[in-house]
Amino acid sequence: MTASADLLRRTVKSYEKDIIKFSRDLIAIPGFSGTEGNVCKRIAQEMRKVGFDKVWFDKMGNVIGRIGKGKTKIMIDSHVDTVHVGDRSQWKWDPFKGKFENGKIYGRGACDQKTSVASMVYAGKAIQQLGLGGDYTLWVVGSVMEEDCDGLCLLHVIEKEKMVPDYVVITEPTHLGVYRGHRGRMEIKVTVKGRSCHASAPERGDNPITKMAEIIKDIDKLNRRGLKYDKFLGIGTVAVTCIEAKTPSFNAVADECTIYLDRRMTKGETPQSSVKEIQALPSVKKAKGKVEILNYDAVAWTGLKVGQQKYFPTWVLDEKHPLVRAGVKAGTIALGKKPRVDRWTFSTNGVATAGRHNIPTIGFGPQHEIYAHQTNEVVPVDALIKATIFYAAIPQIILAETKRR
Ligand SMILES: [Zn+2]
Repeated sequence: MTASADLLRRTVKSYEKDIIKFSRDLIAIPGFSGTEGNVCKRIAQEMRKVGFDKVWFDKMGNVIGRIGKGKTKIMIDSHVDTVHVGDRSQWKWDPFKGKFENGKIYGRGACDQKTSVASMVYAGKAIQQLGLGGDYTLWVVGSVMEEDCDGLCLLHVIEKEKMVPDYVVITEPTHLGVYRGHRGRMEIKVTVKGRSCHASAPERGDNPITKMAEIIKDIDKLNRRGLKYDKFLGIGTVAVTCIEAKTPSFNAVADECTIYLDRRMTKGETPQSSVKEIQALPSVKKAKGKVEILNYDAVAWTGLKVGQQKYFPTWVLDEKHPLVRAGVKAGTIALGKKPRVDRWTFSTNGVATAGRHNIPTIGFGPQHEIYAHQTNEVVPVDALIKATIFYAAIPQIILAETKRR
């Protein structure tokens, strides 16, 4: 493998200028959840240029490039949408220019995660050029709407387009480590009803905000007391993230109050157990609070209406799984040393593949996650080269490792 690994490294290195240019082009095309059309079209153009066998958009607008027609289905995924730029005055440079300086690329999406797209696509070129095919089908997916609703894009690919991979590689930032899971999450709301009255005589009504104050205290206690803990994934958490009330006027007692909760679930926690925990709080029982999981409803850039419950399952792949082994081998070729094996602190499209569909999934991304969603988003080109080598090498290694099983 050493000789061919060297050839792979040299070949990918020869794409460096193209990888930089393509990354910068992608950063220069703004694309937020639901408005990624132009980003996807630019990706399709590059996939065709470098020689993918087939390139298309699915109904939701995910851009998909295929190489090979073999038995084992391998998917490499990068979402193509970014978060917004926030307060523009806090940016030291144009977030949509793709600034390139001292071997690093800067701008919105440099870290999370448009530059991964360049690595995936040029891995496709290396596979074609060096004949690294085999009895596998590679789907390289540029997925949409991840920032607003992680996993929804791949649920669409799996459930609606009926493309079910056997193995998945997620290219979100891992700082060139092999990641094998993360905590799940859920968005919950708690609603308490009251009875409105003139605020000059509050005793005539029943104030839902006062009742909610007790619930908030209980939720805070629940979080401090400590939810379930897992050695690898860490602890479950719950946080109140928003509060609102319905009131006829600022001179009236409100008639309804709602809070929103962000719940991070570690191993062993389920949506049912997490909802029940809130329902069981004495203050919630006393106020007859209604506890519900939120829904996400939106329109994709293609016009397709999409949605799902805002429950994003926890997932962990066993460290002895052949896919993790394959990741470590591909990482060793890319880095010249054994990669770290770890987990994400945030959530990824793995909630759909591994979380909901139990499909073995790992992550390997060139960027460092501390820069995600920040004004100083950055990626070193050297890391993009290494990630490209990883994505080009891993399909054949997956075949070898899973045969050994
Ligand atoms: Zn991301």
